[in-house]
Amino acid sequence: MRWQGGQRGGGNVEDRRGLGGGAVAGGGIGVVVLSLIGYFVFGIDPSTTQQVASQFGGAGSAQEGTLGTPEDQAGQFVDIVGGNINQVWASKLDGYTPPANIVIYTQGTQTGCGYGQSAMGPFYCPADRQVFLDLSFWEEMETQLGASGADFARAYVLAHEIGHHVQTLTGASQRVQQAQARASGEAEANQYSVGLELQADCYAGVWAANAASVSNGEVAVEQGDLEEGAKTAAAIGDDTLQRRSGGQVNPDGFTHGTSAQRVEALRRGYQSGDPASCDGYTDV
Ligand SMILES: [Zn+2]
Repeated sequence: MRWQGGQRGGGNVEDRRGLGGGAVAGGGIGVVVLSLIGYFVFGIDPSTTQQVASQFGGAGSAQEGTLGTPEDQAGQFVDIVGGNINQVWASKLDGYTPPANIVIYTQGTQTGCGYGQSAMGPFYCPADRQVFLDLSFWEEMETQLGASGADFARAYVLAHEIGHHVQTLTGASQRVQQAQARASGEAEANQYSVGLELQADCYAGVWAANAASVSNGEVAVEQGDLEEGAKTAAAIGDDTLQRRSGGQVNPDGFTHGTSAQRVEALRRGYQSGDPASCDGYTDV
């Protein structure tokens, strides 16, 4: 994909890299939220995430990172592509406001949803409306998950997380959470989670389809990019991840959708370029 000539400053990046794990504050606010929406790829089981978050807990006082436009390549990528994703959504959704920040960090950091850790993978926290991203995840995607390390694959991850922000703005997240609270068991609750995650994948496709039109082509999807994205979507499907971890495939435990479903959702959004094409995923 093309991005380097894109406009800087639109991603609202807060750079907390190198600040270490940060001080741990008390309280346990938002832990459940984190376990529901808190992970994009599970390096660890969500119940473990919840325990870790409970242990360290706390909305606490946020660490102070550096606001502005990072100078390094990876930081600029997040800023420019994040800004482009925000521009696309501003053109598609009335009253769109960007995530408060995209926080890039290393190891661990305080979030409004509890203590965030690299092992959780990238996530969006609805409580403080921020995206949290440890950039080492991008390398992990390639080396451990067998996903693509290409720029578009990375942009897809970012667009997926901002997709969760969109769901918070539209109320889809809250609606699904209410349905989960009423669900008769974990399998049913997980099904709702799958709908939310597939919709975020679909929204990533919608972004990709519109990236060039809002940036005079400075940020643009190129030939072969969608295949890179599909490769990544396939690598992080629940069935594939369960197989990789040596376990049996257990559909009741799916929270993000199968590889085939994730690829389909990304393509659906890309082919239509219209967020309305992603509506059905969160019918509850
Ligand atoms: Zn997600």
